[in-house]
Amino acid sequence: SSLITRSRLKDETVMATISGKTNMVGLIGWPVGHSVSPAMHNAAFAALGLDWCYVPLPVPVEPAARIGEAVQGVRALGLRGTNVTVPHKQAVMPHLDRLTPAAQAIGAVNTIKVEADGALSGDNTDARGFVADLQDHEVDPAGKSVIVLGAGGSARAVVYGLAAAGCTAIAIFNRTQDKATSLAAQMQALFPRCSITAQTGEQLPALASQFDLVVNTTSLGMTPQVDTTPWPDEVAFHAGQVVYDLVYNPRQTRLLQKATADGAHTISGIGMLIWQGAIAFEIWTGQKPPVDVMRAAVEKR
Ligand code: NAP
Repeated sequence: SSLITRSRLKDETVMATISGKTNMVGLIGWPVGHSVSPAMHNAAFAALGLDWCYVPLPVPVEPAARIGEAVQGVRALGLRGTNVTVPHKQAVMPHLDRLTPAAQAIGAVNTIKVEADGALSGDNTDARGFVADLQDHEVDPAGKSVIVLGAGGSARAVVYGLAAAGCTAIAIFNRTQDKATSLAAQMQALFPRCSITAQTGEQLPALASQFDLVVNTTSLGMTPQVDTTPWPDEVAFHAGQVVYDLVYNPRQTRLLQKATADGAHTISGIGMLIWQGAIAFEIWTGQKPPVDVMRAAVEKR
């Protein structure tokens, strides 16, 4: 079809423009073959006519020294920066020269920038990406009360982002209670004006109706376990509540299906993926990201 022809032509255009002057960025992770980030960023570079290119940078977990070598290689090979994904978001940190306050507090780096002086600085754009996507859906976190389900890596970014954006209360629920307790304590110390607490499952039914926003940061509901959900069937959502699922594969998780049926407003995590990339794009290039182009590239996949 003409659409396929056009997208092939666009990819060829990206390839054809690579020269000795092309700026390189990429994605450190393992595996990286499934990632939508190369398509998303290369489409953005092409749309703005930027002489930049985004490539996969697969780095295995073993031997353990490999990740440090890879980070040094980013500078040694003259890359302008990278994204970092699972399972290396923590492991890259000791090899960087600087961390932003967000990366430090979240304890994970998803974006590395090679500064003009060669210093490697680590940032985390997941927190801002999540908040940007909420705002894109006309949900302002300021003044809101939020239930966060999960206390893993993405929960750390979500809680940081929500508290930094002015939420008044965050209640964290997690299967492993200790992780919720330590995340709540750490974030409460950073954000004294927001009430950040860890809760046990028994408290969910009583608290559920009082909260404005519910965010799933667990992997429950993700393909292939599409029949799982982090939310009890018997606890209802209501109109006026917003339910956000970081899981974006599938787009309509069991959690979001229930929230829709109960009359709540739902948001899929695909927008967070796009916005964390858009913010990284701006960090590297200094240009305003073409978010609609990036979204179209992700949705074409
Ligand atoms: P993670 O650090 O491994 O954390 C996983 C979380 O899920 C933990 O809270 C864990 O609880 C919980 N969990 C896993 N299996 C469970 C089960 N059977 N029952 C109850 N809880 C369970 O993973 P992550 O990096 O935070 O990622 C979580 C999800 O978010 C993934 O699906 C990922 O694809 C998605 N994500 C999306 C975006 C986006 O841009 N939309 C960004 C990041 C992540 P325990 O602590 O008890 O193990």
